[in-house]
Amino acid sequence: CGIVGFTGHRQAAPVLLDGLAKLEYRGYDSAGIAVRDGEKDVEIVKAKGRLRVLAEKTNDGTAMHGTCGIGHTRWATHGEPSELNAHPHCSDDRNVVGVHNGIIENYQELREKLQHKGYNFYSDTDTEVAIKLIDYYYKKYEHTPVDAINHAMVRIRGSYALAIMFRDYPEEIYAARKDSPMIIGVADGESFVASDVPAILKYTRNVYYIGNMELCRLQKGNVTFYNLDGDEIEKDLVEIQWDA
Ligand code: GLU
Repeated sequence: CGIVGFTGHRQAAPVLLDGLAKLEYRGYDSAGIAVRDGEKDVEIVKAKGRLRVLAEKTNDGTAMHGTCGIGHTRWATHGEPSELNAHPHCSDDRNVVGVHNGIIENYQELREKLQHKGYNFYSDTDTEVAIKLIDYYYKKYEHTPVDAINHAMVRIRGSYALAIMFRDYPEEIYAARKDSPMIIGVADGESFVASDVPAILKYTRNVYYIGNMELCRLQKGNVTFYNLDGDEIEKDLVEIQWDA
């Protein structure tokens, strides 16, 4: 299971596939990527099995256009390995699209709460519940991604590394974590999120370590960190000295 996200000036899909391949050692049963071209609708491609299947489906990523995207390799915990259960997952209107590593322990209770609010579910995953919970809070709290994710983080029990895109915020990715690994990378005009440093080492050695229950907003070449109160926090940039 692994996560890679990229926003910058080059095409995102090849960067995502390349990064996911570097995380293969973590193990997985399916994979998927979501890429966005400016204001256009997000494009999602998933595949059960090897990353090679996803690479073939997307012509090594060249069939997908856009400079902002997120990718995922899944190690199924809730719901069988299948294309439907593979990530990225999205809200009905594709307002929120995201990938997740970890386990949402109270997903059943949250799923029922959302069903009462009119949400329908297409997969058996705990992840779809997390994404739709963020969508619910996003619509409830003035369409502010940081507030929406923070509200969801307070409600979710379990572990997660999340990378999320919002329809209203093209070219941006939001990342949050609790008890699952995730790092942030920056380069000139480009920003990265990944489960582990080797996924992005080809592109940058400048890394931030996002803390437990913290959130990051990635823009092209610029990242901002927030705590659970939504306050901005300062982080030290670390220069990676080793090679993968
Ligand atoms: N619990 C999630 C699922 O089953 C994420 C698994 C993972 O970490 O890859 O889809």
